[in-house]
Amino acid sequence: MSRAFYVTTPIYYINGNPHIGHAYTTIVADVLARTARTKGDTFFLTGTDEHGQKVADAAGEAGVTPQEWCDRLVPKWQNLFALFNISYDDFIRTTEPRHERIVQRVFEHLREKGDVYRGVYEGWYCSNDETFWPESKLVEGRCPNPECRREVQWLSEDSWFFKLSKYNDRLLTYFKENPTWVRPRSAYNEMVAMLEEGLEDLSISRSKFDWGISIPGGGGVIYVWFDAILNYLTPVGWSEDEERFGRYWPPSVQLVGKEIARFHTILWPALLWALDLQAPKLVFAHGWITLDGQKIGKSLGNAADVFTLVETFSADAMRYFLLREGHFGSDFSYSETKIHQRYNDELGNDLGNLFRRTLSMLEKYRNGLVPQPGDSHFGERFSDLPKRIDTLIFNLQFRDALEATWELVTALNREIDEKKPWVLAKAENAVALDALLYDLCEGLRWLAILLAPFMPEKAREMWRQLGLETDIDDAWESSLVWGGLAAGTQTSVGDVLFARLELPG
Ligand SMILES: [Zn+2]
Repeated sequence: MSRAFYVTTPIYYINGNPHIGHAYTTIVADVLARTARTKGDTFFLTGTDEHGQKVADAAGEAGVTPQEWCDRLVPKWQNLFALFNISYDDFIRTTEPRHERIVQRVFEHLREKGDVYRGVYEGWYCSNDETFWPESKLVEGRCPNPECRREVQWLSEDSWFFKLSKYNDRLLTYFKENPTWVRPRSAYNEMVAMLEEGLEDLSISRSKFDWGISIPGGGGVIYVWFDAILNYLTPVGWSEDEERFGRYWPPSVQLVGKEIARFHTILWPALLWALDLQAPKLVFAHGWITLDGQKIGKSLGNAADVFTLVETFSADAMRYFLLREGHFGSDFSYSETKIHQRYNDELGNDLGNLFRRTLSMLEKYRNGLVPQPGDSHFGERFSDLPKRIDTLIFNLQFRDALEATWELVTALNREIDEKKPWVLAKAENAVALDALLYDLCEGLRWLAILLAPFMPEKAREMWRQLGLETDIDDAWESSLVWGGLAAGTQTSVGDVLFARLELPG
């Protein structure tokens, strides 16, 4: 069993530009990775899926070769991730030699074992989804994917197959024995139903086009899904670095959109078992983000929108919004108005003003120096908060984790309102004022640590203004102990964290 934390996003199919949905999945993985790093060895993988018919078609339309197309598109994805401060440890491209080598090795290994065999494929093919569908699945003769519903074509060709049906029973047993390995429950139930219907062997080669990884010994290219899903093996050293592979395998959390859950929870574990490897510990199929009710995608023509949103609200505010707005696993709708509200109310007022007021009062009453703590016992109310938040994050309940964090924000604001430091200052009640100012500063130190996985830039800005020099990413067990802030620390009032924004129009 792996000793480290290994988290993956799906590798993104680059037949178009990235949009907010891609940012969403990747931000979630980033929050998990940043939290896991405070505990120990962590590996965070993302990347791009670059083969297949649709990429070849997109390149053709643009009048370039598929490789040129990919080389042009990949920087757009990397720029988006840089904009959001995504802290991936590796970015894999399926056109890289390191990956092609692994895919061919898996293919050869399974061919020798007999799990990959030669046959004739006849069936209904959707070129948009690059998927073969059985007759029984078609909806009025069309592709059954509700997002697609395009015409399918009858294909007949010599093909290599993966013996997926051989793993049907083992998959069903595995699902029954591990009822939470696929979440949410809706995705789990859908997969069990598919397994109960019975699986057919999967055609894993293509001879109609050549934009893919060559089959060893010739005979076309490898099916893009077979190629892509193996990406998770490549950077952790499968068949090349035993020590490294043992450290990271199996993955702790694999995030996928719900539309690709079946590849990751049926084909993927079967392939891994064929290789005598363990299935991932958790595959989480999240929902879709919609803009005023419409699914985001290339066809909506709002692909560039995410860059504009970051420009308007900042990357950290968008990270916060996306994780705070919806329950992870469900669809949710966003609009600029909703972002505005959360930005001004929660980030600007609740957190930003709390931070600014506290540091301003500290400057006014104590020359910016953190006073001695009193015996308020304020911090005792929050002794279990870090553990609760940690549990919620690793349970992928990000909205709840942020709500729990806000309990501290709210309590600190209430302390100011109730104890009125300006009254204490006027009455020259130095002991009470010191105790209050200490609690406020210590609470803000906690908030910077707890929010660092969600809003890394703003948390560091808080850290700087609080005058702290330690590492904000230290283990929570040691850093989140009330009283950790040293008396005498010199704070300084700096930039406003979330400058108020007026709604346009
Ligand atoms: Zn389709």
